[in-house]
Amino acid sequence: MRIELTPQQSKQQESFKHFVDDEIFPYADDYDQQQRIPMKTIKKFAEKGWLGVTIPTENGGLEMDTISWGLLCEEIGRASSSFLSLITVHYMLCKALTSWGTDFQKEYWLPKLANGEILGAFGLTEPEFGSDAKNVGTSAHFADGDYVLNGSKKWISCGQIADLFLIIAQCDGAPCAFIVEKNTPGFFVEPINDMLGFRAAMLAELRMKDCRIPEKNLVGKIGFGFSHVAAAALDSGRYTIAWGCVGLGRACQEASISYATERKQFDNYIKDHQLIQKMIADMITNVKAARLLCFNAGYLKSTKDPQMIMATSIAKYFASKMAAKASSDAVQIHGANGCSSLYPVQRYMRDAKIMEIIEGSNQMQQILIARYGYMGI
Ligand SMILES: Cc1cc2nc3c(=O)[nH]c(=O)nc-3n(C[C@H](O)[C@H](O)[C@H](O)COP(=O)(O)OP(=O)(O)OC[C@H]3O[C@@H](n4cnc5c(N)ncnc54)[C@H](O)[C@@H]3O)c2cc1C
Repeated sequence: MRIELTPQQSKQQESFKHFVDDEIFPYADDYDQQQRIPMKTIKKFAEKGWLGVTIPTENGGLEMDTISWGLLCEEIGRASSSFLSLITVHYMLCKALTSWGTDFQKEYWLPKLANGEILGAFGLTEPEFGSDAKNVGTSAHFADGDYVLNGSKKWISCGQIADLFLIIAQCDGAPCAFIVEKNTPGFFVEPINDMLGFRAAMLAELRMKDCRIPEKNLVGKIGFGFSHVAAAALDSGRYTIAWGCVGLGRACQEASISYATERKQFDNYIKDHQLIQKMIADMITNVKAARLLCFNAGYLKSTKDPQMIMATSIAKYFASKMAAKASSDAVQIHGANGCSSLYPVQRYMRDAKIMEIIEGSNQMQQILIARYGYMGI
């Protein structure tokens, strides 16, 4: 079996790389320190059409093939996990609407999400419900032609800047998904700062107090909120994060090789010490293995193979573990310098820890993967 990019994919990869090298990579430490991504950079990204990579062309998107979408995430992940989180949750909302939205929702919202006129976010987690997301406590009830939402969501990436939110709630005990506009009366956004990693992801807590939204904002059917709508969004999120971790692993590898080539101890460059070589060899091997798992997930997605869900979980699980190990080793290779703000590897390590928690923690991925295994998939 040969795995190679098409000429079109290689061309796109080049343009992603150029954009990231010019517009994101040099500023990623600043984003981290300032806990913000500048809107002008998001606008430049949007001008490329890349907020709409997963949206069908008939709704104003680029409808990129799944591998090109992955390559874009890899390049972004190489530079800034916070920027990656922005596109992750935006694509999650796009995916939910593309898969389960009404004709009106697709025609009205998707073109605006595709061109960056609005930014999307994904609201599932609550203060009391994280991994146990099926049982979220936010409630919805139907009254006088509207749904009325009450409850709160926590750790919502890009909640501070998003315009449109996918909110998962229980409607008389049945999980439902709704879209909520940020200026809806009764909808409140409170910034969360000073996280360990993803520091520029502009997280927020969302509070809904008798927040009335029109009936047309229900996404999918009553009862589909978790099993169908959130599941589609989470599958997209895991795919984006898995590829982003490949990029993060590459960044660790490149930083480590560069440092080990310059730093001398015991009269030798540290790259010549075999214990350093072991760490670099593991990084190279594991980055390649993670990329192959991502290619596999992307290929299965492109053929709509039912195994794509499991393949995506496996890719996210392996790639996030790989990024956590690679970034920890990258700090090790940099010694004290790696623990300082002089080098980005400490950011990589902080961001990689988050990768093991979001989009379903790695324990949740292990449970899912084992369950698929028991079913003989
Ligand atoms: C930077 C960041 C950004 C985020 N962005 C978003 C977002 O945009 N939207 C959103 O909805 N959420 C978001 N989250 C929340 C994230 O999805 C949750 O943190 C995650 O699902 C885990 O939930 P929890 O933190 O409540 O941990 P818990 O569910 O309380 O779990 C705590 C620990 O117990 C383990 N655990 C739980 N249940 C089991 C079990 N059955 N077996 C074994 N181990 C178990 C978990 O793996 C974890 O290690 C974000 C989180 C972070 C840190």
